[in-house]
This record gives sequence, C-alpha cells and structure tokens, in this order.
Amino acid sequence: MALRVALGLPKWTPNIVLMKIAGQEVLSEKIKRLAAQFFIRQLANGVHSPIYDQNCNPGIKLIKRDEVMLANLFTELDTSTDHIITFPDTLISRSNFCEIFLSEFSFQNKAHPAFLIKDLFEEVVYKEFQDYHIIATDASKSHSFTSIAGISNLQSFVYRIHPTNSIFTAEALAICQALDELSVTDKNLLLLTDSYSVLQALKCLTIKSPKVIHRLAGKILVRKNFHQKISLVWTPGHSLIHWNEKADLLAKTVTESHPLLEWIAYEDIISRYQTISLQKTNLSFQHSKYQESIGDIPAMFTLTPWLKNRREDIIIARLLTRMIITPVLLHRFGLHNYPRCQICNRDNNIEHIILFCSKYSNHRSILYAKLNFDPQLCSSLKAFFQNAVSDKRHLRILLQSLKSFDIY
Ligand SMILES: [Zn+2]
Repeated sequence: MALRVALGLPKWTPNIVLMKIAGQEVLSEKIKRLAAQFFIRQLANGVHSPIYDQNCNPGIKLIKRDEVMLANLFTELDTSTDHIITFPDTLISRSNFCEIFLSEFSFQNKAHPAFLIKDLFEEVVYKEFQDYHIIATDASKSHSFTSIAGISNLQSFVYRIHPTNSIFTAEALAICQALDELSVTDKNLLLLTDSYSVLQALKCLTIKSPKVIHRLAGKILVRKNFHQKISLVWTPGHSLIHWNEKADLLAKTVTESHPLLEWIAYEDIISRYQTISLQKTNLSFQHSKYQESIGDIPAMFTLTPWLKNRREDIIIARLLTRMIITPVLLHRFGLHNYPRCQICNRDNNIEHIILFCSKYSNHRSILYAKLNFDPQLCSSLKAFFQNAVSDKRHLRILLQSLKSFDIY
C-alpha cells in the first residue's frame, strides 16, 4: 500500500509489478533477511553485544526457528559464526593513532603519467621514510578466488579468503595480516596500499565504521605500544611503483593450494543477502505473465535522478507499468463507456496512442526522430519504452512530448 502511494500507482497495479518497479524485495524475503541481519550484527559486535558472549554463545536463549535459520545461513556460506570479523575487545576512540597520507605527497595524483608517479614516489620514500621498514599489500578478486597478499624486502604472504568478502574488506584484511606477519619490531613501518577507501575509512573511524576497520585500528595500536611509528600511505594503483606491482602480482598468483583465511565480514554477508533477495524479485517478475507484456522495467530509483518532480515520477511509473489512465483502462473498471478510439476504431490503450493512432502521426514522427527510434526494426511498446528510458536525454524528450499525445 505504502509503495503504491509513494509511486502514485493505482490500487489495481499487480503486486509483483509494484515490487519490480520499486526495486523492492518480496516482503517475506525481506523479513527473513532483516532477522538474519540482526543476529549476524550481534555476532559481529562480539563482546559488546548484549545477546552473545565472547565465544559466540548466546547469552539469551534463541527460539528454535531463529537458531535453525542462523545455522542454515552459515552452512550455506560454508563458514561458521566464529569466523565473523568482530569488534576488538577494546574499542578505539578517534585519536591520532597513526599517520595516514592520502593526498599530501606529489606522487599521490592519478592524473600524472605513471613514470612520473614512480619517480616522485621514490623521491618521497628517500626523503621522508628512509629508516622505515616498507610493506606493500594488495587484494584481488576473480571469479574463482578472492585473495590477499603482502610483501616486504624480507618476506611475503598470499592467502585465499572467503569469496563473500568485498574487495574493500580484502584490502583491509591484507593490511591486518601484514601487520601480524611482516612487521619487524625495531623499525618504524611504512605500509603501502592502493585502497584509498580503506585508508579513508580508517582516517574517519567511528563506532559505525566496518568491523574490519576497527580490527585494523586495533592492530595498529598494538604496534604503537612497541613505540613504533606507523605510516599508511596511499599509492595510486597501476603506476609502476614496484612495491605495488609486486603485491598486485602476488595476490593474483593465488591458487587452490594457498591457505585459506576464514575471516568474513558481516557487512558483506548482509549485502550478499540483499542482492540475492532482489534477484528473487526479478526472478518472480520474469516468471510472471507481466514480463511478456510490459518487458523488463527498470526500478524507479534508477530513473528519479533524471526526473524533476513527483508529477514526472508518477507519470513515468504509470507509463512503464501500463497503468497510465486511458479510455481502455477506465472502461475496464466501468468508468468510461467507450474503450475504442473514435478515429481509428481500435482499442484506445497506451500502445495505440503512442505507436499507432493516426491522430498523433505528426507528433509521432517528430518524437521517433528525436529518440532515434526506428519502428521498422521493432514496433512494440516494450521496445519504445526501453529506448525512451535508456538515458536522461531520451527520458526528457519523452516527457516533453507527452502533452502532444494528450497524456498528462
Ligand atoms: Zn486512434
């Protein structure tokens, strides 16, 4: 009901069409997902959660249904609850616990040619970080593996990680692992990464930051206790900086035989479920009779940036779902006594009006020309709308011409 009102669609709009154009999950799926989300978030909160203790045992008794749901969820992911990345036991309040360089150095500019970035980088290291132990990390995601790698001039590592993890989580885990495995205790550390977003997140650490960023902050703090200076520096990717190239290559050499680090980010599990849930909406739309007649309609939120006001939102939602008011539609609900076009004596529906009615033939040729739409190739309303909503320019042209077709 709320969706109908929000989209301005009439009450006889079929449910599945409504979900599809709203880009919404089927309600039963959404309820299941939100329940799962709640429990996994509590697991990720670790010792700070009111319902789990630090061994992931519930402090309160879960009802059977939730217990089964959670167990299934983790079996499906081929992992277990104790691999969820949790908050560290002591939370770090924002303070200058390390130096993070995102744009201070001249080489940190992707607009420069690669050879220049490389030279400027070497100059900066020579001047600013001469006595530092250098470590570079990288992450990689292919259809078969998600992997992390780290390298210093003494050692290196490569691990597979759980494929549900995003590249963001992977990049952060790579730095965590490097701090554990590649640090040397008597020197300051210079950590190089091409993940701007991880360093940015670390710089803006709050209670709402991803758990993996909290874990990274915790690991940096441990090093700090050894009185080491730690600098994290963003290096532009694919810019001939040999440290990055080596870490990048290493991450890509991963095979089945490399050890698996089982950590998995709760945020990534959630977004995976969201994707799957939306796919289910798309699938049930595809299997419904509506896909055949109205085609694959886009979700409204992908079009709203191109629309100026609510009236335009409503008119486009109604056109795409074929719920625009026409004599045929009104007649179907007993609100109009003549469903046929007075000029052509055909059913006066939206298809007739836009594609065939002789009353609008002049406006139609102008509109087709502007949209670069060729009715000889494909003269269906599906094809016409697909063309008309394909980009901002086309959508604006469509909206401007609706008046000449007496569509308001
Ligand atoms: Zn007509």
